[in-house]
Formats: sequence, C-alpha cells, structure tokens
Amino acid sequence: MNIHEYQSKAILRGYGVNVPDGGAAFSVEEAVKQAQTLGADVTVVKAQIHAGGRGKAGGVKLAKNLDEVRQYAQELLGKTLVTHQTGPDGKVVKRLLIEAGSNIKKEYYLSFVVDRQTARVVMMGSEEGGVDIEKVAAESPEKIVKEYIDPAIGLAPFQATRMAYKMHFPKETIRQVTKLMINLHHTFVKKDCSLAEINPLVVTQENDVVALDAKLNFDDSGLYRHPDIESLRDEAEEDPKELRASKLGLNYVNLGGNVACMVNGAGLAMATVDILKHFGGEPANFLDVGGDSTPEKIAEAFQIMLDSGQAKGIFVNIFGGINKCDLVAQGIVDAAKIISQDGKSLPVPVVVRLEGTNVERGRQILKDSPVANVIMAETMEGGAEEIVRLVKGDSHA
Ligand code: GDP
Ligand code: MN
Repeated sequence: MNIHEYQSKAILRGYGVNVPDGGAAFSVEEAVKQAQTLGADVTVVKAQIHAGGRGKAGGVKLAKNLDEVRQYAQELLGKTLVTHQTGPDGKVVKRLLIEAGSNIKKEYYLSFVVDRQTARVVMMGSEEGGVDIEKVAAESPEKIVKEYIDPAIGLAPFQATRMAYKMHFPKETIRQVTKLMINLHHTFVKKDCSLAEINPLVVTQENDVVALDAKLNFDDSGLYRHPDIESLRDEAEEDPKELRASKLGLNYVNLGGNVACMVNGAGLAMATVDILKHFGGEPANFLDVGGDSTPEKIAEAFQIMLDSGQAKGIFVNIFGGINKCDLVAQGIVDAAKIISQDGKSLPVPVVVRLEGTNVERGRQILKDSPVANVIMAETMEGGAEEIVRLVKGDSHA
C-alpha cells in the first residue's frame, strides 16, 4: 500500500527524522492559511499524488509570498498531472503539501528496501540525488552504495557512518546523517514497510540534513498490525478493480491485457500468465482466488474481471487440492446468474480447466447448467490456446 508524501513525512517526523515543517491542504484557502502559519521566507507548494516525477511535471512550486501560494494552489488543485510515473492518463491533484522551503546545497538519495536475494533489508544511497535512481543505476552504478542489514542486529552505527562517508557527506553533517539513517531504518521495521525512499535527502546551506521528499510503501500482509496506516489509504489513487478485490481478500493485480484468468495458488497463477503469453495472449490480470473458494467468492471474482469491459475472455485454471472443483463450478454458474439477466450467459467466452478434488462432480455441474459459452478444456495448455484463439477471433470480428 502507498500513502501520500505529507502522510509519510508526518510518520517520519514522529520517529525523529528531520523533515521540513508543513502540512496538507485540500483547498486554496487551507493552503494560504498553512503558509501563513508557517511564516517561511519561501513556501513550497507540492502536488500530492501517488507518483514521483512531480518536479519535472510542474507539480512542485516555490512561492515567495502568500499571493504566490494562492496562485500556485489554484493552479495545481484539480489539475491532471502527467509524470513519467503516472502513465499517460495522469493523476488529478486533490491534495497539496504546504511546507517551509529549504536552501539546498546538495541533493542525495537514500532508501531502504527488502532485497529478496539476500533476504535482508538493504540501505541504498547515492550522492547523485534528486534525479531518477534508475538512471543513476544504469549510467553510473558505481555511484550507488549499499549496506545490507542483519535482521538480528539492525542497522549498526558503524554501517551508518561508513555509508555516510561512502556517500561523501560533508564531515560536519555525518552525525545528523547517521541519526537520520537509523531513525529511517527504525520506521521501516516498526511500520512493516516494503520501501522507504528519500529523494532528495538534502544538505542545506546551513548544513542541516533534511528529508525533502519521502515515499513509504507498506507490506500489505502486515497492514492488519497497523490500523493507523490502513486509515491513510487514499482509494482515489488506487486501481478500482484491485481495491474491490483486496476488500474481498482476493489477490488481484491488473496487468492491462484482455484475457482474464482466475486461478488458485500464486504459482499456478504465474504459470497461467506465462502460458497465455506463450500462445500470444495478453493477460488482463493475475488473480489468485486462494484455497477456500466459495461460490460467492468466485462470482465476485468474475464480476471484477468483467467490470469495465476489459476482459474479452476468461480462462479458469483450477487445480483442486484444498479447493473443490464442484464449488468452483457452482461459482461459475452462480456468477452467470448474477451477471446475466437470463442466468444463462456470460458476456465473454469462458474456458475452464478443472483438475483435482471432486473434478467429476464439477464437470457435471457445468454440463448440466444452462450457462452457454463455457468451454471445458482437458489440459492447461489446451485451455490457454483455446481462450487466446477465442479472444483473438473476437477482436477480428
Ligand atoms: P518528485 O519530483 O515528485 O520526486 O518531487 P520532490 O519532492 O523530489 O521535488 C522535486 C524537486 O523539487 C527536488 O529535487 C528539489 O530540487 C525541488 N524542491 C523541493 N523542495 C524544495 C525546497 O524546499 N527548496 C528548493 N529550492 N527546492 C525544492
Ligand atoms: Mn523526489
């Protein structure tokens, strides 16, 4: 789960990470009021969307007085901001962060992320900050330095010091930098983050070390431990299908294609996405319905997949171990009842491959049902080929 920059900064402030003074504004009046309270020489007006690259897209403005704050707030609120991270449709700005401006001397990059290879949290830093870290990684990888953190010990002070020197921070800022690193790591662990990124981390003309931007992502599986974080969810920033699925406890990721798939088990779901690609199809989604599929859950999953007309065909690929094939089959019949007016048809072809517990009963339910356009497949390979063919045929028609 993602949250906004102003929310991340509030959390970081609570853990002793140095961030600029400031707060959110949802209207022009609020923005001006915030700026008035801050009373800074320069006020930064920042668009709050769940995407970076705002600076280059005109979403970060420096105001010299309250009139300028008003003008920039007016300009940004309601504007659709297109950055290299939003996709071509962009995102509508509904919130602003109003904060005291900093006199930047130099911009650095600092982040914590889970490294799957070593199964550790890694701290990454670069003296090339404020720019895309992907660009630095591609063009000058030697400028990215890392420290792997032992989970039993945590971020050791000597590692933070070594990192600060490797990133070439000025001597007089080292203590502030290491303190910030340790506090940021503490936040990362305490809040079950999957990413904590400060870009840029700056040294000011006054030699203060400040987190000028902040991005925290959270591990969804840990959210139940953090109702405070959960309450920060901004549903307007999320994919509506993914949101609906997550409320039902379904693992759904929109992949943008037109062949939807409903699978049980993450491994089989990935294999299914692969095999659809293999036969020239474009998967619409990854969907793991899990091991306890009830007909209601299956029906909900169908509705999500069919929502907004994205799917031109559905491939159901179930290996019934804990799942029972007859319940899945019943779910498909129920889905047709809910989705269609007559209870007999689904709007797109559905290819079903069932194998495992109660498979005969499942196949019988589908055979006996009045639902048209459901095709049984004998194998996963045959089913994938069939649905891709049907979807392609459909788009040619
Ligand atoms: P992003 O482009 O979405 O990552 O937004 P950032 O918060 O990183 O801001 C982009 C850039 O705006 C930063 O790299 C800075 O150069 C600039 N910026 C942000 N805050 C300030 C500030 O207080 N003072 C000055 N002078 N520049 C700032
Ligand atoms: Mn940034």
